[in-house]
Amino acid sequence: MVEIVSAHTDLRRQGERYVGLCPFHEERTPSFSVDPREKLYYCFGCERGGDVFRFLEEKEALSFPEAVERLGERYGVEVERESEDPRAEEARRRRERLRELLERTSTFYVSFLWEAPKAEKAREYLARRGLSEETLRAFGVGFAPSAWDQVLTRGQRAGYSVQEMHAAGLVQRGRQGGFYDRFRARITFPVRDPRGRVLGFGARAMGEDAKGPKYLNSPEGVFKKSSALFGIDRARAAIARRNRAVVVEGYTDVLALHQEGVEESVAVMGTAITPDQLKLLSGHAEEAVLAMDADRAGEDAMIRAQKVAGARRMRLRVAAMPEGEDPADLLTDGGSERMGDLIERAVDLPVFQVEAAIARADTSSPAGRDHALDEVAPVLAAMDPDSVSRQELVRTVADRLDTDAGLVTRRIDREGRGGRAMAPADADRGAPAKAGEPARPRSARERRGRALIAMCLAAPAKGREYLARLTPAHLSSPLMTRALEWTRDHLDDPMAGLPREDGELVSVVTQLVMASRREPASREAMELNLLWLEQAMIDDQIAAQAGAGAPPVELQRRRAELGERIKHWEGQGNEVRREER
Ligand SMILES: [Zn+2]
Repeated sequence: MVEIVSAHTDLRRQGERYVGLCPFHEERTPSFSVDPREKLYYCFGCERGGDVFRFLEEKEALSFPEAVERLGERYGVEVERESEDPRAEEARRRRERLRELLERTSTFYVSFLWEAPKAEKAREYLARRGLSEETLRAFGVGFAPSAWDQVLTRGQRAGYSVQEMHAAGLVQRGRQGGFYDRFRARITFPVRDPRGRVLGFGARAMGEDAKGPKYLNSPEGVFKKSSALFGIDRARAAIARRNRAVVVEGYTDVLALHQEGVEESVAVMGTAITPDQLKLLSGHAEEAVLAMDADRAGEDAMIRAQKVAGARRMRLRVAAMPEGEDPADLLTDGGSERMGDLIERAVDLPVFQVEAAIARADTSSPAGRDHALDEVAPVLAAMDPDSVSRQELVRTVADRLDTDAGLVTRRIDREGRGGRAMAPADADRGAPAKAGEPARPRSARERRGRALIAMCLAAPAKGREYLARLTPAHLSSPLMTRALEWTRDHLDDPMAGLPREDGELVSVVTQLVMASRREPASREAMELNLLWLEQAMIDDQIAAQAGAGAPPVELQRRRAELGERIKHWEGQGNEVRREER
């Protein structure tokens, strides 16, 4: 749920929930919340709410079956269909076949690595890097034969067309128009999605006689390298457990780190971490340590990363790798301790960037210092202006450049205004949000009705009794009456089977279920809310009779009696201040 919603708005954890700006209506302060346990969302501003399917229906304009399909696809859950549109069915079959083809090919590369005499050198190379067979097998590392058509003919024999193999990125077209294997005489690393399904391959050339680039990946059309992370399927659990991800650049670095127990390691397939990759990680952890050449990534990419991470309250740190060494080298000489040390000593990304810029600068001349200020300003401008870390960094910069903090701050402000163009936006590339109207403020009566029903959900044993006593006359609206009836009939699992076409009911029941997790459902609180609602109901009746002439003595008497009982329950010393949030 959090991962899906995070594609549309930045969420941050607040106790057991996640909160953020509502993706459905314009707002400045967050009133949108997600309950990761119940897997529900609700906005107190525009009152939209529901489950993950409803979110996709509303936000990505999908039909319910499409939303189910999309999620099944993404999380590897088989969706059973009773009937299906033939075109959608064909597209799905095609995707399944390609996935199967990639999986089979991966298995073939693995067995070739371990069984073929021609893979001897590859086995030696990997052993020299200190990688055990167990680790290599766990990651599905393989070897692509040097022949031009091994994968091609095997695929054809298994019933795949050349077009399918081309679409899977396994073969490519030659100058004469024929097709041949894309990966030849290379060590292959299957890149998988978080669920472990093969998306494509990265392949490393072997030996000096190798032609072509050192690393060759599946073509971009097969999978998006900027949103995949090598090793995420095996690292996911450790990332969540340690609340941290270690991000490196090379496939073998990931393998070496996992082998040494740094199981929260993943690799990017480029020189910088991308916003998509950070979003994927931020669903599992609050910190990412970049154990890679952060200088090489380019400053723009790092500033973009910092912004995405900052918006998600994710901490990005840089472990400075010693010149010319990568994590795998560190592990072979010095063992895991040196690497562990580097990770522990990693500095926050902005600090790293500022230090690097100042180290590069010629601080002996005013022009050099000006230039350094130009370089650090965008870094500082990307930070939360109210954070202590930015204030500290501003002082450091002022100190090192021999100027005053006010000047540095003014320079950042100018940067902030000028650099606005690349500021927010990339958190939300989905469909434009409908400018939903903020909801009308609720009456005290409606708040109490909602609070009482939420308490009934929180404590179903007592709740059953109160739901039986509640009547439509107690409640403020037809919608609340429908909500009452629904919860009364579905007290055990109110979200199951909600009529999806009734958006209002879905929203109100969602809100009640989410509120139920936070309502202290004491007998006193429930009784008091019911008494209040009874009083409100009698007020209605008195008002209705007001024009009729006869003084509603009986009603007045009952109202007074209710007042006494309310006082009695309030006197029990319980704190019942029913504000429904
Ligand atoms: Zn909203």
